[in-house]
Amino acid sequence: MPSIYLDHAATTVPRPEARDALLQWFDPAVGTGNPSSAHADGQRLRVVVEEARERAAAALSARPQEIVFTSGGTEADNLAVKGLVWAGFERGRRHLVTTAVEHPAVLDAAHWIATHEAVELTVVPPRPDGTVEVEQVLDAVRDDTALVSVMSANNELGAVNDLTALGTALRQHDVPLHTDAVQLYATRAVDVTWVDALALSAHKFGGPVGVGLLYVRRGVPIVPLHHGGGQDRGVRSGTLAAALAAACAAAMVAARADRRRLARHLPDLALRLASGLTAVDGIRRNGPQEATRRLASHVHVSIDGVDGEALTFALDQAGVRVSAGSACASGAQRSSHVLEACGIEADASIRASLGWTTTLADVDRAVEVITEVVTRLRRDAGGGFVRRGA
Ligand code: PLP
Repeated sequence: MPSIYLDHAATTVPRPEARDALLQWFDPAVGTGNPSSAHADGQRLRVVVEEARERAAAALSARPQEIVFTSGGTEADNLAVKGLVWAGFERGRRHLVTTAVEHPAVLDAAHWIATHEAVELTVVPPRPDGTVEVEQVLDAVRDDTALVSVMSANNELGAVNDLTALGTALRQHDVPLHTDAVQLYATRAVDVTWVDALALSAHKFGGPVGVGLLYVRRGVPIVPLHHGGGQDRGVRSGTLAAALAAACAAAMVAARADRRRLARHLPDLALRLASGLTAVDGIRRNGPQEATRRLASHVHVSIDGVDGEALTFALDQAGVRVSAGSACASGAQRSSHVLEACGIEADASIRASLGWTTTLADVDRAVEVITEVVTRLRRDAGGGFVRRGA
């Protein structure tokens, strides 16, 4: 029986358009040359990079000069958090606001700069569903706030934040807003109107691992992380990766073109998966109730009466690829800071994430297997279990 891949939020299936672009420009016949070299081979690849930049910018309704290619989401988030806070020092600003549910690429960067650069950090807690209250973020903003960083959508719960309201208010306070949109792009339109910086990662929407980008609004000062050859207007030194940039842009265009189809079909699949799982006693869905506040791709459930590690192992053995974790910090599995911040208690939890290749058959088989595995693990553990949630 082939495995069922429901871990698209961790990394999705490469799109053929991205694969073709990658292979085309990693071919020795046309892919040899440094885009910064003045000779014809270098200039050919320079054109590839600049065309990729134009395509990426168009997909975000941004300008090409606002796109900085990076090695992925982690670098883009680090560049935004550290680079925009450092730039704030010029204006005497040393305060940073972020949220407790950010990906470690933001949260750990924020803690690092707070520890090493005498920056004061305010971490705003989420609502129990993983979304962040705009008013609470605005309450944390001060005259010396250098940056606010709030994710567009949470990677575990799929909770979507209202960045238009936040960005509009922050602009009145002249405080830049960065958002990690890594999880959003595959299924939703990304709008840069009200943000000053926005991070994306290609492998979350069908491009290769190892490339992403940071959108930085024109005129917003940012201090580089890397020093070197001064590529990308000095914001990101390092030889420009033509094949990766081309593949990233190709994936962006393909994913964007596929969103309408996904919007028609993913919510039904996610609902079917969630309904199938929550029909089992002691399984609850987490995250926002309203569809508008939740990514169509994410189904996160808490499961009572099973050991998280045993569940991960058994599901993998049974061929169902999902992300599993526990809300409890004492277990051998890494606890989830997101579930803890949201106050979600469970013996085990699963994030099943759907993507552009997910079918009805995948979902139905996953419900069957997860139900079987949970029932078996509970039976092996002695039958009865304590229901934690309401
Ligand atoms: N931000 C979010 C919300 C993510 O989900 C991830 C990856 O899981 C990252 C950042 C890091 O991206 P990358 O894997 O490209 O470094």
